[in-house]
Amino acid sequence: MDKLEKEYVKSFVKNFDVNYAWQASDKIANIGLFRLGFRPSGTIAEHEAAKYIADEMKRIGLVNVSLEKVPLPAWSFLGAEVNIIQPENRTVAASTYAGCLGTSLEGVTGEVVYVGDGTRHDYSGLDVQDKVVMVNRTKDLVYSAIVYEAQLHGAKGVIVRETAYAKAPEAIRCNDFCGTQARVAVVNVSKDVTDQIIDWIKEGKKVVVNLIIDAKVEDGEGNNVLGYLPSSEKSDKLIIIGAHHDSWFHGFTDNAAGVGCMLAIAKALIESGYKPKANLLFISHTGEEFGALNTFYDWLIGSDYAVKIEHPDWAGKVIAYLNLDGSILVNATAHFETTRELKDFTEKFVEEFKEEFRIPYKSVEFVSVPDTQLDQFSYAGVGIPSMALILNGHYDDMYYHTQFDEAKLVDDASLKAGVLLFGIYILKLDNALVLPFDLSAWGEELLAGYGRTEVGLRLDLKDAMDRMEKFVDNTKEFSVRVEETYCLLEELKRIGGDNKSVKNIFKEVNSGLLEVTKLLNAQLNALGGVQVAEKVMFPHEQYLKDILFLGETVEAIKKKEIEPALTSLAKVGGVEAWCLMSRKTFENEFLKMVDLRRKDLHWGTGHIVKYVDLWNEYNTLEKVEDETKTKEILKSLENKRSLLLDYLKETIKTEEKTVEKANLSLTKLTKQVKTVISKLKKQVQ
Ligand SMILES: [Zn+2]
Repeated sequence: MDKLEKEYVKSFVKNFDVNYAWQASDKIANIGLFRLGFRPSGTIAEHEAAKYIADEMKRIGLVNVSLEKVPLPAWSFLGAEVNIIQPENRTVAASTYAGCLGTSLEGVTGEVVYVGDGTRHDYSGLDVQDKVVMVNRTKDLVYSAIVYEAQLHGAKGVIVRETAYAKAPEAIRCNDFCGTQARVAVVNVSKDVTDQIIDWIKEGKKVVVNLIIDAKVEDGEGNNVLGYLPSSEKSDKLIIIGAHHDSWFHGFTDNAAGVGCMLAIAKALIESGYKPKANLLFISHTGEEFGALNTFYDWLIGSDYAVKIEHPDWAGKVIAYLNLDGSILVNATAHFETTRELKDFTEKFVEEFKEEFRIPYKSVEFVSVPDTQLDQFSYAGVGIPSMALILNGHYDDMYYHTQFDEAKLVDDASLKAGVLLFGIYILKLDNALVLPFDLSAWGEELLAGYGRTEVGLRLDLKDAMDRMEKFVDNTKEFSVRVEETYCLLEELKRIGGDNKSVKNIFKEVNSGLLEVTKLLNAQLNALGGVQVAEKVMFPHEQYLKDILFLGETVEAIKKKEIEPALTSLAKVGGVEAWCLMSRKTFENEFLKMVDLRRKDLHWGTGHIVKYVDLWNEYNTLEKVEDETKTKEILKSLENKRSLLLDYLKETIKTEEKTVEKANLSLTKLTKQVKTVISKLKKQVQ
């Protein structure tokens, strides 16, 4: 850190007000539709939160404060309950899932049938017609899948038994639904209640329940709230720091505290008198938790709308988007998830920060791909460099998205760490003469991926590898030149010169760097391993994996090892649990959801990896008896494997083109830096 930067940081830290961070977070957390909270997008509670945030932005001195409307279904949920009628009389608290409709005042009454994980096998031999099924929801399937399967078998109500989350006693949970809106009543109750129901059923007792849900969906509008601390240099560049104010329950850590910290950062920067070089934009998103019906891609709707509809000009101008969501929590481990070019900078920053300020995290980890669970992905997907801090801990499986996401999960130290970390990160980025992007990470990781492809498939990728190596070399050359520039600038400062003569070239270099990172992020962040565990990866990666899994499958079938063959086959496309559902559920809640022709893929648009349908092969193989059938399956698998191979080759060609384009721009940028170097050398001599 140079001296000036140290002054900024000192002043920022001095002006940070932990009480203000508390006060703003508390205020937002206490806005809700009813006693248990809830600020779903487009509802009066979300509107009230948005208005409070906008007023607060104005009050602390941000300018051009605005509410940007986002059209979305407004889901007003006002509570649910389950009345146990038999074997004993008792009313228990319940919740439901985003977009699920309410019942009549009398509710839905029926006998409970426990169907385990709710695969189609679990229903065999059971009569659930006009009954209420209780289904386990593991992490493997989205809610829409298990509910759709229950509907297929004639159930009139579904009690979801959360097995991976909401483990705290009495915890009830809400989440987005990720698919076709339910036609039947859907609730969840706490684990102690579902365990009791299972016990009763085991004891042979008849369990009868009455489900009552108060909820409705209307066309509505959510609000993204924006406020600026404008550039003192009239720059067209931006640094954006964002959170979201929609929530389930009180949503203290998810994400009232994120918004509170964001406001506290803005306030401390303003009160410290800081004059930013880029425009600093503070944005609180709507529709992060939920904002679209009948699509898998039903979250991150507000941020997707901001980057594509309201501000398509941001990509290429935004230096970085910084995501404050789930970033404030006690007793947690810290994961910094960045787009590749920001990983190195973030690691060094955190290292330095750790020494200077005591951070309360148990451990720190860095991941160089953005997360699809956060607004971060909307930004990364259109080509904006981004960083998110995610804190994990006891909280995740106990309290996440439950009524226990409350203020006691946060303390002064965690609030302070969040505010200081993000605030100082902004100061460092804003004061970097050359944007601190490490492009070599893109080249090196892609090169490693091609290496794996070459080994795994014995494909000849020499040309592609050569090209990639050249790119890596050039990124390194660029970094060396930038280092050299910094040394010369130091020298210049020592002899009392100024850098005015080269400042404009730096500006051009930075614009060029943003164009390169825009290209790489927009083209090379693919979504593979479709559904639930959707992972961000290079576009070719999922095809490579799928081809290898199919190869394993074929080998196993040839050796007549059916179990291992099924295991490998289900890994293709990451659809393990889906193969166990009925064909109709698979078609409706999976194939239809990832159909690339759909217009409502939102942030998935342009990033979703193609999937080859293997449901039939899986389900035939499962009960295969004769040789001819096996031969048929093998033939079909070979065909699909060669289809995937075509996809892979095509994808690698596209990736090569992207890198080639990035490389051309980078060569130009290196030349510009060299001009700076020769100018500086003259001045120093
Ligand atoms: Zn959140």
